[in-house]
Amino acid sequence: MANTIPNPTLLQKNLLKWFDQYKRDLPWRRTRDPYAIFVSEMMLQQTQVKTVIPYYKRFLQRLPDWKSLAKANEEMVLKLWEGLGYYRRARNLMAAAQKIIRDYDGELPDTMEKILEIPGIGPYSAGALLSIAYQKPYPVVDGNVIRVFSRLFLLKGNLKTGKGHKKVWEWAHKLISHQRPGDFNQAVMELGATVCLPENPQCLLCPLLHLCPAARQGLQTHFPQAAKPSVTAEVSMAALFIGRSGKALVKKRSQDEKWLKGMWEFPSAEGKSFEDALRKLELDLKVKAGREELLEVRHQITHHKIRLRFFRATPPHPGPLLDGFKWVKLSGLRRLPFASAQGKLRKWLLDNDA
Ligand code: SF4
Repeated sequence: MANTIPNPTLLQKNLLKWFDQYKRDLPWRRTRDPYAIFVSEMMLQQTQVKTVIPYYKRFLQRLPDWKSLAKANEEMVLKLWEGLGYYRRARNLMAAAQKIIRDYDGELPDTMEKILEIPGIGPYSAGALLSIAYQKPYPVVDGNVIRVFSRLFLLKGNLKTGKGHKKVWEWAHKLISHQRPGDFNQAVMELGATVCLPENPQCLLCPLLHLCPAARQGLQTHFPQAAKPSVTAEVSMAALFIGRSGKALVKKRSQDEKWLKGMWEFPSAEGKSFEDALRKLELDLKVKAGREELLEVRHQITHHKIRLRFFRATPPHPGPLLDGFKWVKLSGLRRLPFASAQGKLRKWLLDNDA
């Protein structure tokens, strides 16, 4: 049975006091600039704080405001994002900056209705931006908030989708501090990230210990209840190093691709097996690939476990290249944005002087 809010005012007070004292000193917490907060929120989606910090600093140094981002070249933005994953966020960020310059005179809108029209903004980001940048009392719900609330209110069932997720949003709306909404939202997420941990919650250090029924009943690790594990598909891929006169044949992924649009890569294909993927590449590119593997990289994208094997192939006969393909000097490969798995192939190639 869902609990009632033990004492919302006391809960807010204790949490905010704890946040003031123990919050991590993060670069985006030292600014009130909506642009910088926007960039940080996009980067932090599904990515750990310590990974984001250097990316955030570098991004703001190169592209300090909406105007510079709106005018930036996509390849440069993807290069700044290289290694952070979920590249759609980078493209959305550019599209958002262009809309903000075009439709809102360079100011991030401050209403829920308008902010939800910005590319890449869903309910979570809208709540985070309106509360942190503009002090509007909108809540946020992410994995940390779900964990903390499930324990504080003994929320049962799958809280990540459907009715359960809606239930967490309702609690978040009831609980948001109207005096300090941005700090309150950050405090709940901070508590989830540093104290109310999934496996080993540090209840003795928690400012909400005496308000928490899960801790009182020793049920902390029973919440949130596990959702059904999602099915993961295995994917076999082959990629080719095709070299000629100190150059490699590489390809820019088109805007029609499902993943990693606009990123560069060595020619690659998916198949029922590596042999099958290699045959496809040989046919498409009219090359002959050796069967001796140079490197194997394992990688996961959403629910796909990818095994990518890298082979050497003879160059095709000189002639016009297929769309998106280009010969690039090996020394110039580092300047192009490569996603994680393909980036490992590039590193191997450059390290091994292939
Ligand atoms: S007391 Fe423990 S379980 Fe309850 S909110 Fe705090 S850390 Fe989480």
